[in-house]
Amino acid sequence: MAHSHDDHSGHNHVWADDLTKNQGLVLGALTHSDGPLSAYDILDKLRGDGLRAPLQVYRALDKLVERGLAHRLESLNAFVACADEHCHRSGLIAFAICEGCGKVDEFADAVIEERLGDWAGQKGFKVERTTMEIRGRCAECVAA
Ligand SMILES: [Zn+2]
Ligand SMILES: [Zn+2]
Repeated sequence: MAHSHDDHSGHNHVWADDLTKNQGLVLGALTHSDGPLSAYDILDKLRGDGLRAPLQVYRALDKLVERGLAHRLESLNAFVACADEHCHRSGLIAFAICEGCGKVDEFADAVIEERLGDWAGQKGFKVERTTMEIRGRCAECVAA
């Protein structure tokens, strides 16, 4: 009955079974949150689950960010779960951050990425990651 899963491994999403307990807890907290969470927000939520040290949260966040399962919003010093299973790659990631309700919309845009790539090519700049953070108001907040 030993079926090999190797044939499909290239297509599997990284929604990893191999997360540590802490990584799973932290990812869960981010996934169930409506908005971005700071490391301390996460720690607060997970105290009941046995997480007590900020370092435990930071370590888990580092790994999740490294794997593309979560992203760090530099301008907020906060984290969000990756909204898009296609983006586990080192391309351009853009976030529209609503200053009204705190909602964050994650998207990727191939055209912007291409343009930045052209620019970097011309300048000989080696891009490691690009994160765009757009501040403003979401459609619901504008309408309210
Ligand atoms: Zn993402
Ligand atoms: Zn809003």
